[in-house]
This record gives sequence, C-alpha cells and structure tokens, in this order.
Amino acid sequence: MKVAYFTNDQVPQFSKEKTVVIIFSEFAQLEKSEENFDCIIVADSKIENTIKIIEKIRKNIQFYLLPIFTNIENAEQLLSICDGDITRESWDVLVKKAQAINELRSLLVLPTVPFDLDTKVLQYTFTRENIIITPRLDWQTKALYVYPLLKILAVKTNDDLALLKNLQDRNLIEKETLHDRLHCCSKCHYAHINYIDTCPSCHSINIKEVDFLHCFTCGHVAAQDDFTRGNRLKCPRCQAVLRHIGSDYDRPIENYHCLDCEDNFSEAEVIAKCLMCQHSNTLDRLVSQPIYSYKMTELGRLSTANNSIADMYNVFDILNYLTPQHFNQQLNWILQLAERHLEINFGILAFDIIGLDIFVQKEGRYAGHMLLEECTERIRQTIRTTDFTTRTSENRLWLLAPQTSAEGSQLLGKRLRAIADLTQQHDGIKLTFNIIVLFSGDISLKDETAETLIMKINEDLDAWRD
Ligand SMILES: [Zn+2]
Ligand SMILES: [Zn+2]
Ligand SMILES: [Zn+2]
Repeated sequence: MKVAYFTNDQVPQFSKEKTVVIIFSEFAQLEKSEENFDCIIVADSKIENTIKIIEKIRKNIQFYLLPIFTNIENAEQLLSICDGDITRESWDVLVKKAQAINELRSLLVLPTVPFDLDTKVLQYTFTRENIIITPRLDWQTKALYVYPLLKILAVKTNDDLALLKNLQDRNLIEKETLHDRLHCCSKCHYAHINYIDTCPSCHSINIKEVDFLHCFTCGHVAAQDDFTRGNRLKCPRCQAVLRHIGSDYDRPIENYHCLDCEDNFSEAEVIAKCLMCQHSNTLDRLVSQPIYSYKMTELGRLSTANNSIADMYNVFDILNYLTPQHFNQQLNWILQLAERHLEINFGILAFDIIGLDIFVQKEGRYAGHMLLEECTERIRQTIRTTDFTTRTSENRLWLLAPQTSAEGSQLLGKRLRAIADLTQQHDGIKLTFNIIVLFSGDISLKDETAETLIMKINEDLDAWRD
C-alpha cells in the first residue's frame, strides 16, 4: 500500500506494516510526483488546510477517485467527500475500503476534461458502493440546498438539481429519501421567499389587526377603540351603551383594517415575495421543489462500468416512438396500402448520429446530453404528429412519414441535416447525421417488405459509416 500523507504539522508518527508513506505539504507536490498512490491521508491540524487539499484532489481528474482518509473530528461535513476517518477506524478497515474502491476504479476510463461533472459524479458513485448523494441545507446559497459531493467534484458552478434530474431521467440514479419540499419563486425558481399579509382590496402591506365591535341597536361596525368611553363601551353613532356581548353587540368576523384604503376584512391575502428577484407570487403560483437524496441504479453501474455513452441516445425515444417491431408492422401495412392505392405515398428516412463520442471527450457528458436534447426538440418541431420514429441501434434513428411526396421527403432530409449543422461548436466539432432518404414512389412495392427494405438501408448506412 502506497500512501500520500498531507500535513503541515511535524512529521507524523505513522508507520504501518507493508505500507510506504510519502509526506506532502502541498497539492502541487502530488501532481509532480511520479508515484502511483493507493490512497491519500489528509490530516492537517488546521481544518481549513485539510478542506483545501481535499478540494484540490477531488477536482483533479487524475486523482479525484482516489480513496481519501482524514481526521474527521469536528468536521462532520467531510464525511460525504472522504472515505474514512483515521482517528476512528482501524487501519485494516481503511485498507480494505481503499482496495474495494481501487478495484472498481481500475475498471474505469477517467474523464478527459475537468468540467465533465456528469462522468465524475457517476464514476465517484460507482467506485463507492452504497454511497448516497445527500443534500445539505445551506441558507447562504441561492438554492437553499447543496449537494456537497457535486460541489466538491465540480470545477465551475452548476445547477445541481438539473444535473441530478438529468441523471435520474436517464435511469442512472434513483431517488432515495425525500428530505424537504421547497416552495420556489415562479419567476426565478429560488426558494428565498418572504410571506407577507396584504390587503385583498388594494394589496397594500400597510394593514393591522384590530378588534371590531358590531352595535345591535344601529348596526354600526367599527374598531373597539371607537366604542371605548372610559371603562364603558358606547356606540359612537347611536350612543347606545353596550353591556352584554350577544344581546347588545357582538364581534364581527372582520379583524383586519387597511390603513391605505380603509377597508376591513377577515382574511389577509398572503403574498410570497421573492427575495432574489422581487417578484410577488400568489401562493398558488409558487413552484413546489422536492429535495431528494439519490443512489445509483443497476443500469447506472453497468453503464458507468462500460464507460458507455449509449444511454445518452435515449432522449430520442420520445419522438412519436414505436418499438422496432411496431415500426416494422407500420411499415409493412403502409407498403401494402401503397401497392393497392396509388394516392398513398410516404417517405422513409434513416440516419446515424455521428460524432457524439468525440463531442463527449471534448465537452463532457452533460454538455453532450444537453446537445442531444436540443436536437430532439428541433426534430420534434420538424416532424408531424403523424410521423413515427424508432431506434434500431444506439445511434441509428428511423422516421416513417406517411402521405409525404418525393420533394417532401427530400425536404425532411435537408431539415434534419440542418439540425446537425446547428450543433457546431466554436472549435468546429459537431454532430453529423448520415441520412438516407427513400420515397415510396422509388420503391418496388410488390417486391419489398419492411424487413427487406430495412435490411438494405442498414447495409447502406453501415457501408457509409465504415
Ligand atoms: Zn424570484
Ligand atoms: Zn387596502
Ligand atoms: Zn349603535
């Protein structure tokens, strides 16, 4: 076992059997070191130094997955970003933990860019079995909750909730426990809200709670103060002396008075004023935001272990999606129909999405996913509700467009190519769609079935790719 030991204190008394310990005081020394370490101990007597070094390790794509042990006393917040406590756990236990993490770590291909938070979260979670991604309340943050693990792995500020939702939508992580439910501003989505009672007539906040009396003799309603004469109650309008509640007077349900418009009312209108953007929300417009902890799914483990980007293509399956079998049936049906009825025509488009792997290497998985989502949205706007899609391999999509002319089919192909062109980044990398467009008029309808047609198109696309 080779241990990197960080401390600014005097050289620690740390010697274990079969363990080589190298002492560092700064992170830069570790970066320069040629050694391959099995774990890192960060145990500076100053907690600020300890946190600083752990942050640097967890943000660095070369070292971030290494097991880190520390002295957690007085620093419970380190628990979620470290792997063990040298003051409370035996060295044997820590060695076993490190071995388990390193075994899983050896299966992975490390991310190529430091801002690839998506991959980092998945790989970190994968290498720590049973780890829960847990939120922590932090009133000083805009979102009120932070996920310490995401925060320490990130090299720039991210929308944690959006990232977690995205991983969840892809079935890579799942909800563990509901920790809280926030009410967020409908405009800016932050949860710093001030609830104020206001006048329902003029919306002024200048209202006060008052005790009202109602004179039975003349029906006058006014604040109790107006009725008070010395230690007696006397109606200011009809001068009746009010002795007994229930027979001379009672208390009406109104108990608020607006000092701006003089209105009296029984229930104030509650306005939720956003402290971030000043927007005044009515209560029913507030957005409910549940805060969950998360754990990795089996699919997440598999997909991370395979270093796979296959799951990212799932976003396309929401476009009038049919399973490949149903797509076949639909195609067979329309082939037969078109053979019998001349007025029936249709277009088939099949395309491979090329270049996602290179994009992900350069920009990270999350950016890759957002890009695919953008493409999906554009494709959705391009196709009609009567068109069907399916996906026969991770990156091969099919589109069946009934009642579409030859020109219409070509135009559809052109629009899809234009969508791919829009993915171009500053550095020139982009997605390409290899598209094959087929029009029913060009198909020998009596000879072809869905199966033979799809086979031919598959062969053409395969040849194009290779
Ligand atoms: Zn707001
Ligand atoms: Zn008012
Ligand atoms: Zn009266």
